[in-house]
Amino acid sequence: RAQVRRLTAVNIDELYQTIILDHYREKHHSGLRDGYDAEVHHVNPSCGDELTLRVHLDGDTIADISYLGEGCSISQASTSVMTDLLIGGTTAHALELHDKFLEMMQSQGRIEPDEDVFEDAIAFAGVAKFPARVTCALLGWSALRDATLQATVKEN
Ligand code: ZN
Repeated sequence: RAQVRRLTAVNIDELYQTIILDHYREKHHSGLRDGYDAEVHHVNPSCGDELTLRVHLDGDTIADISYLGEGCSISQASTSVMTDLLIGGTTAHALELHDKFLEMMQSQGRIEPDEDVFEDAIAFAGVAKFPARVTCALLGWSALRDATLQATVKEN
């Protein structure tokens, strides 16, 4: 029984690794596109990750998130997964999901991610156990929050 549980844990780690590598190899929605409402540049000095991110709003809806990033696989993959989750949704949904993701990443693995809410972002639950990599996983989300708030101020 204990052996079965160990195998399961290994398989989940492998699944998480696969999701992260898939997004790193083929980043969704990457590149910088015109027609944006706000652009931010965020860096993660502890790892050397850099990200330029643009948000395009259509009323309360996030019409597009485009970005150009450099750095480790976790920072790049996390940004790619995030765009899948947030494009087409409302700004309120994006900010709420940002807070939930932040809470999960700061829980040191204590918060079990809800797959229905996070989809591929559950892969970063494993990263939460490694404090040095948490800032990598948060880079895209922090940039998105920053850009969304700037764009919202401009619209109103
Ligand atoms: Zn990194």
